[in-house]
Amino acid sequence: MADRIIRAITCDGAVKILAMTARETVEEARRIHDLTPLTSAALGRTLIAASLLGNDLKSEEHSITVRIDADGPIGSIVAVSDSFGYVRGYCKNPQADLPIRESDRKIDVSGGVGKNGTLSIIKDLGMKEPYIGQTELLSGEIAEDITAYLATSEQIPSVCALGVLVDRDWSIRAAGGYIIQLLPGVYDDEIDRLEECMKKARAVTECLDEGMSLEEILSTTLEGFEIEVLDEAEVGYRCTCSRERTRGVVMSIGVDELSTIAEEDGQAEVACQFCDNKYLFDKAELMDMIEEIKSKKE
Ligand SMILES: [Zn+2]
Repeated sequence: MADRIIRAITCDGAVKILAMTARETVEEARRIHDLTPLTSAALGRTLIAASLLGNDLKSEEHSITVRIDADGPIGSIVAVSDSFGYVRGYCKNPQADLPIRESDRKIDVSGGVGKNGTLSIIKDLGMKEPYIGQTELLSGEIAEDITAYLATSEQIPSVCALGVLVDRDWSIRAAGGYIIQLLPGVYDDEIDRLEECMKKARAVTECLDEGMSLEEILSTTLEGFEIEVLDEAEVGYRCTCSRERTRGVVMSIGVDELSTIAEEDGQAEVACQFCDNKYLFDKAELMDMIEEIKSKKE
């Protein structure tokens, strides 16, 4: 079943909700990058966050990148979403793994990510320069870090839940998440009501694993609020690489480097970081690129 994302508001207009299922998306990331349970959880949560924030972008041309750079064994984590919520991503060390955390018997995401580092959100809104916001990591569990980012960097009080449940054979059993945001002009008692709901909220993966729909999860989680779904869409893992774009990246290394590769290797093979698609450029193509760069300079 394809993943889906829904956008909803509460009927009193106080709360905005984005929620999604992401089992297929995270499973595809696992297949491409050969992820461990630890990296499935960490990259998976980041992909879900990017997809939710991406779906919230205003224009079709816009895109968003969620990037975590911290001191844990996983290394940098990157997830990019288009404005529909289709995502792609990678992490530096997909093979990183850690034992289950003793304290709560859960995957040790914060141990894998690291606690010292930054969360960056880069929005390409079609301007000359992208908008970049950055905060220090709060816990390395990702959902809390996204919440802290939205509160400090964008002044939006939010609740974020992100979850990936990995099966015994390392396949993705359930994945999904939501971002609940308070809209401007909300009264304190509504904030209190929401906080009460969140105290009682169950893990989103637990609900999904029981077969609950997004609508059921939201109405259970936001008990007492009446929810209206505004729209819904299919989402998934999708790379946007192409031979043409990769050629541009190869050309950007410059004449000297290209000449050395053409002489010594006679070809260049470039793998896409996001989907592992391999693009091979033979010697003749490399020579063409060199000529093209030279002609542009003249
Ligand atoms: Zn690709």
